[in-house]
Amino acid sequence: MGRLEPNRVCTGSVKCVEEAGEIVSGTRELADRFGRIADDLRISLIDKCNLRCTYCMPAEGMTWLPKEHLMSASEAVRIADIGVRIFGVKDIRFTGGEPLVRKDLEDIIAGVRSAHPAVPISLTTNAIGLDKRIDALVNAGLTRINVSLDTVRRETFRAMTRRDRLEAVIDGIDAARRAGLHPIKVNAVMMRGLNDTQEAELLAWCLGRGLQLRFIEQMPLDADRLWARANLVSAREIRGRLRESYDLTPHPEPRGSAPAQLWDVRHLGGSDVLGQVGIIASVTESFCAACSRTRLTADGHVRSCLFSNEETDLLGPMRAGASDEEIAEIWAGAMWAKPRAYGSDTVTLNTPGYVPPERSMSEIGG
Ligand code: SAM
Ligand code: SF4
Repeated sequence: MGRLEPNRVCTGSVKCVEEAGEIVSGTRELADRFGRIADDLRISLIDKCNLRCTYCMPAEGMTWLPKEHLMSASEAVRIADIGVRIFGVKDIRFTGGEPLVRKDLEDIIAGVRSAHPAVPISLTTNAIGLDKRIDALVNAGLTRINVSLDTVRRETFRAMTRRDRLEAVIDGIDAARRAGLHPIKVNAVMMRGLNDTQEAELLAWCLGRGLQLRFIEQMPLDADRLWARANLVSAREIRGRLRESYDLTPHPEPRGSAPAQLWDVRHLGGSDVLGQVGIIASVTESFCAACSRTRLTADGHVRSCLFSNEETDLLGPMRAGASDEEIAEIWAGAMWAKPRAYGSDTVTLNTPGYVPPERSMSEIGG
C-alpha cells in the first residue's frame, strides 16, 4: 500500500496522502481491514423526532443534543463534499431522528447538489410534514425518499409510534408520489403482538400505490433496551406470512451490497409480477461482509458500524480549523478500524451476553 493509483485500496495513512502529492477526486477510498469499501454515506442531521416508535425511542425522557453540537447546514455540506470529492462517495442519504425537523434541510440538500450535480441524494423520513415541503426539497435536489410506515391501521400506528399521525404520514407519501419521486421505498419494522399479522395487508397497500415495501428485522437499538431475540419477527417468519397471500420468487437482479433481499411478488398462482418486496434480515441473515456504509452522527462523528460504540469526531477538528485533507485523514482512519460485524471483530448478535451499543437508533441515525 502506499502510492495512490486508480482502483487501488488506500489504507488512509498519512503516507498515502503525501505520496499522492495532492488529493484527486475519488482516488482515495474509505477502505477497512476486511477489504470493504464504503461509498454509501448516511448523514444524521438531528436526533429529535416527532414520533416515538417503540423500537427506537422511549415514550419520554430522551436527552437531546444541544443545538450548538449539531452540524450546521454548511458543516454538513462540507463533510458531504469531502465524502464525494475525496472518497468517491456514490450515494448520500440524510436521516435522523427525523430529518424534516430540520428547517434548513432544503439548504443542506441544495448545498450538496450545487457541488455535486450527479450524486443521488435521498432522505429517510417518517414523512410528517413532507406534503408541505416536497416541492422545495425536490427543487433543492432531492432524488429519492424512504418512508417509515409499519402499519396502515390507525390504532396499530398509534400503539407503535405513540402518536396519532397516520394520516399525516400518508399525506406525505402521496405528496412524494405526486412530485414524481421514484422509487419510493417504505420501511416497516414488524413487532410481535403489534403489527406482526399485517405483513400482507401492508404489502397490498404499498403495491396499490406503486411503493416498494421493505421489511426490516428489529435490531437491538431501541432506547428502552427491550429488544429480545425471542420476540424477533424474523425474515423467515415474514416471508412465510407473505406466502400465505402471495407468490414470492427471488428478484433476478444481483443484490450487490444492498441490505434488502428483493422478491418478485405475484398473486397466488398468477403470472404477472405485481412489484417487489424487500426483506432486510439485519439480525438473522447478516450482510455485514458486504457493508458499504459510512455514517455520520448529527454531532459530526464518524461511525463505521451501526452497532459499534466507537465514534470519531470530525466536527471538532473542523471547528478547530482542520483542512479538508486533515478531516479526510481522520475519517479514513476511523473507517479502516471498522469492525467485522455488529460492532465487533469476534461477537455477533447471536453470541450470549451480546451488549448493544450505548447510543440508540435515533441518536446514531438509522
Ligand atoms: N425518522 C426517520 C424514519 O423513521 O424514517 C429516520 C430515522 S429512523 C431511525 C431510520 C430507520 O430506522 C427507520 O426506517 C426505522 O424504521 C428504522 N429503525 C429504527 N429503530 C429500529 C430498530 N430498532 N430496528 C430496526 N429498524 C429500526
Ligand atoms: Fe422517529 Fe424514525 Fe425513530 Fe420513529 S424510527 S422514533 S420516526 S427517528
